[in-house]
Amino acid sequence: MSKNYSNGNIYTLAQNRTHNYSLEHLKAEISGTGTSIIDNPALLKRANKKVITNALTLALVDVAKSNGEFDLVKKYWNTYHCQNELTGYDQRVHGKYCKNRWCATCAGIRKADLLNTYYPLLIKWKEPHLLTLTIKSVKAEQLADKISEMISKFNTLKDRCNKRHSRGKGMKLIGIKSLECNFNASKKWYNPHYHIIVPNRPMALYIKQEWKKEWNKNGNYQVSERGQDIREITNVEKGLVEVIKYGAKMLSDADPTHKRKRKRGDLDGLSIYANALHTIYKAMSHHRLYGSFGFKLSNKEKTTTNVKLVNDFQTWKYQHKYMDWVNTSTGKRLTEYDIDSKLEQLLNTCIDTELV
Ligand SMILES: [Zn+2]
Repeated sequence: MSKNYSNGNIYTLAQNRTHNYSLEHLKAEISGTGTSIIDNPALLKRANKKVITNALTLALVDVAKSNGEFDLVKKYWNTYHCQNELTGYDQRVHGKYCKNRWCATCAGIRKADLLNTYYPLLIKWKEPHLLTLTIKSVKAEQLADKISEMISKFNTLKDRCNKRHSRGKGMKLIGIKSLECNFNASKKWYNPHYHIIVPNRPMALYIKQEWKKEWNKNGNYQVSERGQDIREITNVEKGLVEVIKYGAKMLSDADPTHKRKRKRGDLDGLSIYANALHTIYKAMSHHRLYGSFGFKLSNKEKTTTNVKLVNDFQTWKYQHKYMDWVNTSTGKRLTEYDIDSKLEQLLNTCIDTELV
């Protein structure tokens, strides 16, 4: 019996396959809210973040390569390629995110998500306070151990206080905490610290006292009163932004002893210490930097990402020579970004990959 392909299943299958194949190429996957293509200031910010991230990740790749840490080399390259292709749909552009801490774009999105999650809760607190908990400055080789120790000591003190509370003594600890680390370029020291927002001053004082007790027990004096700080938060949004820095500042003062009030956008005296940042990111890997304690977020308060398939989209590809995304069919530039000459100079001359 001869097979009639034109009427049989095989023919139908082949037809369907062709159909699906062409559909795949007509659709793009987008997620998140994206950025409006008519909001030029937002697009320029995105271009600026991409330029800084690219310069930093190239330096981080060099550092990781010279250390033979090839898993990190791969992760840094992922960030270099983050946002290389944007999908334009319905007057907005969407990208795929590398979600790494050293990516200015992804860290910015994560910060905005955290802000949206925590702001409605914090605004209900009557007198929120910002507590900063530090330990003595450490050298690069001690950083990873000290960060792990800080996390375990905070958990120990929190459990102790909560047990005490369940016996009817002391208050239940409530707050939002973030772990961060600064680098002192002149002394080559690292300053890991916690920023904690609590509902009132007595709770800040209580946690500070327990933190000192935890570190200084056994006569092992490691934490001083001077390193700890408590401040009232008068502007909840500003307070939150201060706390949510996502691990480490990318741009540091070359001379941190030279204290002055830095205005937004002022780049004088700033450098990128790639090796120090690499040390910090490595020490922080496998740790969560943000978290709340004493309360749980409801599902409504947790942010979710919707993924959808769209057709009728445009593709914008990042071109390094323009520091901008270019429309693959029209050749139009997305942002018309023009780099600030001071930033360009900083990225060309002030990225330090020296071992610290
Ligand atoms: Zn990214």
